[in-house]
Amino acid sequence: MSIKVCKFGGTSMADGNNIRNVIDIIKSDRDRRYVVVSAPGKRYSNDIKVTDLLYQCQKEVEQTGACKEAFSKIRERFENIVKELGVDMDIATILNQTEQRICTENSADFAASRGEYLSGQVMAGALGVPFVDAQDVVIFNDDGSFAAEESYMLVAKALADKPRAVVGGFYGSYRNGKVKTFSRGGSDISGAIVARAVLADVYENWTDVSGFLACDPRIVDHPQGIKVLSYKELRELSYMGANVLHSESIFPVKSANIPINIKNTFRPEDEGTMIVPITKYQYTGNVVTGIAGKKNFTVIHIEKSMMNAEIGFTRKILSVLEKNGISFEHMPSGIDTMCLVVESAILGLGVLDRLLTEIEQAVNPDHVRVYNNIALVATVGHGMSSSIGTSGRLFKALSDANVNVRMIDQGSSELNIIVGVADEDCNKAIKAIYREFFPAN
Ligand code: ADP
Ligand code: ASP
Ligand code: MG
Repeated sequence: MSIKVCKFGGTSMADGNNIRNVIDIIKSDRDRRYVVVSAPGKRYSNDIKVTDLLYQCQKEVEQTGACKEAFSKIRERFENIVKELGVDMDIATILNQTEQRICTENSADFAASRGEYLSGQVMAGALGVPFVDAQDVVIFNDDGSFAAEESYMLVAKALADKPRAVVGGFYGSYRNGKVKTFSRGGSDISGAIVARAVLADVYENWTDVSGFLACDPRIVDHPQGIKVLSYKELRELSYMGANVLHSESIFPVKSANIPINIKNTFRPEDEGTMIVPITKYQYTGNVVTGIAGKKNFTVIHIEKSMMNAEIGFTRKILSVLEKNGISFEHMPSGIDTMCLVVESAILGLGVLDRLLTEIEQAVNPDHVRVYNNIALVATVGHGMSSSIGTSGRLFKALSDANVNVRMIDQGSSELNIIVGVADEDCNKAIKAIYREFFPAN
């Protein structure tokens, strides 16, 4: 018997009706043995995700010492789900204890983790299988990094005597037991961890779209689906904003060559997308596989004549960033110019001014210019390196759409071309590139 690990996202877990679909999917294939769940997400467009309600609980605790009001909405959602599914469990007691602990723990991570903790228990109750608390098996180091090998070992040990089980996604704990969450959307990582721990044959990631699409369906109507994606393409696209899968979920499965299958809970018959190592990847004939974009970057443009001949120039600039604890996303450079692309959110009050002063002192540049509100748009695909004229087509499409390109970075992986455009041109750029490379759509 092979092993499938299935992760179900927030929309799949949003209410009793959707969870019934999830249960049917699990029961329709006996190989679907280990299930990782998210907290209930939105039921309709202006609904609030349970995770966001839990962050509100924490705010209420900080202000008043209790979270009765915010927690009442969570209580109602879980009571309804349990009623709709007819699960025989004492949800009232579990909810009372959870509300209490959110107050006593007084930690945003603890509060946020309770969505997955509760939906995991409900799912385990509905399936009649054991619930494994991720707090005991997913471990973080003191510096907040994920302790991979230790966690794989603990998950494998916890599941060794359980032919089937449910694990809550999104959280784990430090070695002292204090709960910590991954970043938002992190249940995808938890699913990948469980898949790696049990050496699954496939990691099925069930969501609300029929796989990875060539671009965000909220930007382009009905974009073409991607049948097969390589791990590398996935990493580039998810990191650059295709948030159908958390960009870090690749690492656990990659180390064991476990394929990821993105599937649609609401159209389970659709094949979805297979994400595979490059050795299993078959070229589809498409030049571009997908396009993604991310807003809110700051570009620091540094110009100095003969910079290329000045030994240590780059090191001095990078030392300034290091000293200030700033990481950068890209560093495209020319003979006399260099750009540092940094996420605007990490340039807190006064940080940018400090960086500029220190860069001035370190390398005495001719000019430094700063561009704010820059979006990065990545065009990704293994087919690009072997197709002559790809960048020409891309830049013509952008210029025909009247998009001003502020920065270009053609990755050394030959897998992507990244352009910097004004935030307000981000969607226009994605649409223009999509039209150029997927003309039939
Ligand atoms: P889940 O709650 O199941 O984890 P998410 O909301 O995190 O689901 O991710 C699915 C959503 O990702 C889709 O509904 C879609 O709007 C969005 N999305 C963004 N980019 C893409 C893409 N390239 N392909 C598919 N979906 C995408
Ligand atoms: N519930 C968490 C979030 O909303 C994690 C997840 O759904 O993946 O971010
Ligand atoms: Mg998600």
